[in-house]
Amino acid sequence: MSDIIRRDPRAEWIARNRLHPLHAAMQPAQHSWMGPNGLIRKNPHGIGFIGPNGIKRIDRSGAQQGGATKRSAAVEVQLPLHQVPAPAFYISVVPDMVGGRLSSHDRDLLGLAHQLAGKDGAVLAVIFGEHKENTFATAGVDRLLVLEGDEFSGYAPEQRVQGLRAVDNQFSPRHWLLPDSRSGGGELGRRFAAALGERPATRVWQVKDQECIGRAGAGLQDLARPVARLILAAAECAEPVSETRHEALPVELSTTVARSLSRIEDLGAVAVDPAAIPMAEAEFIFSGGNGVKDWGLFHRTAEALGATEGASRVAVDDGFMARDRQVGASGTWVTARVYVAVGISGAIQHLQGIGACDKVVAINLDPGCDMIKRADLSVIGESAEILQALIDAVEAYRNEAKRDAA
Ligand SMILES: Cc1cc2nc3c(=O)[nH]c(=O)nc-3n(C[C@H](O)[C@H](O)[C@H](O)COP(=O)(O)OP(=O)(O)OC[C@H]3O[C@@H](n4cnc5c(N)ncnc54)[C@H](O)[C@@H]3O)c2cc1C
Repeated sequence: MSDIIRRDPRAEWIARNRLHPLHAAMQPAQHSWMGPNGLIRKNPHGIGFIGPNGIKRIDRSGAQQGGATKRSAAVEVQLPLHQVPAPAFYISVVPDMVGGRLSSHDRDLLGLAHQLAGKDGAVLAVIFGEHKENTFATAGVDRLLVLEGDEFSGYAPEQRVQGLRAVDNQFSPRHWLLPDSRSGGGELGRRFAAALGERPATRVWQVKDQECIGRAGAGLQDLARPVARLILAAAECAEPVSETRHEALPVELSTTVARSLSRIEDLGAVAVDPAAIPMAEAEFIFSGGNGVKDWGLFHRTAEALGATEGASRVAVDDGFMARDRQVGASGTWVTARVYVAVGISGAIQHLQGIGACDKVVAINLDPGCDMIKRADLSVIGESAEILQALIDAVEAYRNEAKRDAA
């Protein structure tokens, strides 16, 4: 076991949220300790628990304060299990699964699906081909249908539509939810709507009171309409599931999916120069700010990682990076799956630009800065040392892979 302290931002969030059902379980086990001058100190906030109606209760039996039932944020806790033994209806979600994993956009959709499913409905996730995801249960999947086979892999929208039609015939979902994204859901959803002959609600950002509201008119207007069966939803359309655990029971299709003759041949991914990828489309961005002291080393690290370079406004204003690389409110709003911020403090204008990024990694000297608060993973230290260590680690990894292949 390494002695590196690893943070769990979700557990910390639950520990701060006094109305969360797991709040009590996330409180630190220590309620009294010896202060520096020998006096015993007590944490008055650690005593008691929040009842179901939000009022604080004190358990005078002592059992609750004894620490035996208390768990710290580092201990894994079981969320309450939500079961739907006999679903009255289904809400189907087709996640993008970029890189074989649920994206934050996919998770928002699963949250929306649970709003629509209520207590009686089940959320059915339909996945194509192989995946690497193991958190379907905590993301809110009640039933999981994996459509396996080479015909579904790669870019195969026509075949996927056939698969979705087979699911539609068998499960007759009350609603279909797809991410309205460039990663596949936007196109697949529109093709599927055409195949069903139904009008989808597109770019939906809210579903409420039997109405869905989507963006229209070049994104300048809202369009409200009765809830459609097929909803193509934007990111942040709902809160992701965070308070329950689900069964993610595997289900299968009872019929075989008809093969469609594809008019498009997928020749696979093409290697491109990361520097040539427009910032708004880059999946992996390595961004530098005022805390970067050795720009040569920064460029070498970005190259070793195969990442697209980005920058804070200060780095651009100081002439270290080109203006088109600026990330933020007055630069580009990026949607990378991984965003690494090196020596960037996390000013609000910068954070606005990375709001849609999936995983943020911060490298910074200041553990209290806003970028560290936003980050999913933080490395505290001198940027030059960390970048050099990163290059060494990447090279060692590649050399090992080469040796194994030889
Ligand atoms: C109208 C307006 C629009 C703006 N638009 C944008 C925008 O689009 N994008 C944008 O980025 N900014 C924008 N800004 C500027 C923004 O407010 C901040 O000033 C800027 O983002 C700060 O850049 P920085 O984090 O690189 O620098 P700093 O705020 O100086 O932060 C440097 C960070 O590096 C760390 N550090 C220092 N030395 C080291 C080291 N050796 N190793 C590791 N870490 C180190 C420090 O702890 C600090 O956190 C805008 C401002 C205004 C007023």
